[in-house]
Amino acid sequence: MSILDEFDFIKKIKPNKHHQSSILIKGIGDDAALYSGNKDVEEIVCMDTMVEEVHFSQQTMTPFDIGYKAVAVNISDIAAMGGTPLFYLVSIAVPTKWSEDEVMEIYKGMNAIAEEYKIDLIGGDTVSSKNELVITVTVIGRVKKDKHLLRSNAKPGDIVFVTGYLGDSAAGLNILLKLESLTDINALSDNEKYLISRHQQPTPQVEVGQLLLEFPRIALNDISDGVASEANEIAEDSDVKIIIDYDKLPISSALQAYQHENKQEWILSGGEDFELIGTIDPKYWNSIVKIMNEHGHHVYSVGEVLPGPSEVILKQGTETSTLTKKGYNHFKK
Ligand code: ADP
Ligand code: MG
Repeated sequence: MSILDEFDFIKKIKPNKHHQSSILIKGIGDDAALYSGNKDVEEIVCMDTMVEEVHFSQQTMTPFDIGYKAVAVNISDIAAMGGTPLFYLVSIAVPTKWSEDEVMEIYKGMNAIAEEYKIDLIGGDTVSSKNELVITVTVIGRVKKDKHLLRSNAKPGDIVFVTGYLGDSAAGLNILLKLESLTDINALSDNEKYLISRHQQPTPQVEVGQLLLEFPRIALNDISDGVASEANEIAEDSDVKIIIDYDKLPISSALQAYQHENKQEWILSGGEDFELIGTIDPKYWNSIVKIMNEHGHHVYSVGEVLPGPSEVILKQGTETSTLTKKGYNHFKK
C-alpha cells in the first residue's frame, strides 16, 4: 500500500467539522460511529473489508469461513460499543477465477453467523474485480441511549481487563500456512484444530459488551489488531498510561501446548482474536466477575491505568518495556 501509516492517514482525512453535529455522537475514531436514534437508543454503524491475499487466501480459509469472518469482525466492532447488531450490508468484488458456487458458499458463511446473532442482510453491491476477491461488510446496530462504551472512558486507578484468550488466531494462521491444502486439517490434533477455528471463525463478544453496559464508565475496544495496538488506542483516547502485566494475559491450553518462537509476538500483536479489552473502576470488579461467570463468560484482570501522558508499558517478570501500537516491544532493561 502506498499509505505508510494507516493511523496517520485516518487522522488526516478526519473532517474538522460536521454538518450533522446535532445528532452525531461519535464519528471517526472508535470501533464504530454513533448517532442519535429514537428517545431510547443510539444507532451504531461500522464497516470492515477483507481482501484476498491480504486478509485471507484459498490456503487459509474456505469460502464459508470468509463469509463468516467478514461478518464476525464487524459484529465485534458493534460489541466493542456495547451494542446489539441488527442488520448488515455486503459489497463484494468478484474476479472471474471465483465460481458462482464458491461465492454462494461465502453467503452461506455469512448467513450462518447472521442466524447466530439474529441479524438480517438488507443490501449491498455486486461488482467484478480483476484479480482478487474483496468483501466489505457494514453492520448496523443499536445501544441503549447514553450507555455506549468509548475508548476514551479510561481513568487512572481503573483495572485493565480482557475477555478471553490471546494469540490463538495468529497461531491458527501459522498452522494453516504450513498446510498443503485445507483438507489436511482433518489429520491435525484437537489443539491445532481449535487454534485454526479461532482464526477462521472468531466469536464476537456481543453478550459480554452488553453486560458491561450495566457498569458506569467502561472503556472498551475489540482486539482486531492485537492487545498492544488496542491498549494504545485506549491510552491515547483517554490520555492515560496503561500497564499490562504479561504474565496475567490469558493463554489457552492449546496455545500453551503449541511450541513456536513467535508466541509472545502473537499474544501481544497477532490480532484477530476478537476478544474485548477494557478498563473498569476497581470498585465494580467483584460484581463484574460474578455477572460474567453467571453468564458463562470471563473477564481477566491484566493490568492497571495510571495518569498520562499516554503510553502502554508491558511488565514481564522484573522487566518493563514500552509497548507500541505496532506491538513489537523494545525492552529498556
Ligand atoms: P477498527 O480496527 O476498530 O475496525 P480502524 O482502526 O479500522 O477501527 O478504524 C479507526 C477509525 O477510523 C474508525 O472510526 C473507522 O471508521 C475510521 N476509518 C478507517 N478508515 C477510514 C477511511 N478510509 N475513511 C473514513 N474513516 C475511516
Ligand atoms: Mg474495532
